[in-house]
Amino acid sequence: MSDWTYKIPTLDEAPKRLFDWDSPIRTDGSPELRLGVFCEESSHEGEPWFIASFVPNYPWMESTGELVWAVSPDYPTGSGHALRVAGAHQQLLVEDKPVSVDGAGIPITNHSAHQASRSRWPLECKACGLRYTYKSESLQPVIAVLLRAGWREISLSGLESARKHTKN
Ligand SMILES: [Zn+2]
Repeated sequence: MSDWTYKIPTLDEAPKRLFDWDSPIRTDGSPELRLGVFCEESSHEGEPWFIASFVPNYPWMESTGELVWAVSPDYPTGSGHALRVAGAHQQLLVEDKPVSVDGAGIPITNHSAHQASRSRWPLECKACGLRYTYKSESLQPVIAVLLRAGWREISLSGLESARKHTKN
């Protein structure tokens, strides 16, 4: 178990309206390989909005051996579970198409490396409207650096700050 203090320490503490409880709650096999992104600007302090997470693109890894991060509609919790963020499917568009995920919530990507590197990830807080759209390639090194440093979640504004300070 990680000693990271998650925004959602247990399933009971997950805000009910922010998650899709009809989706299966999954055991998150590798919490050290998932970076949650939330927003908690001063206008909604104490009421974080959960946006998405980054996980390895496993199908891509299997076929190429290359570690590439993909965006997932599931959010990690301190109990070792991943919860589907309500509405994330509609929000997370890659090349203007919703991200497909398999039964385990892992994004399915059949893109070539070139196309994958051109994916765009719109990350938006529905509570305060903070929004950044990233090219996948600009965030790849940032996600790796944060996870290696022990981060398991980061705010959207923190992610933007990390991006500015991470050298490619
Ligand atoms: Zn916000």
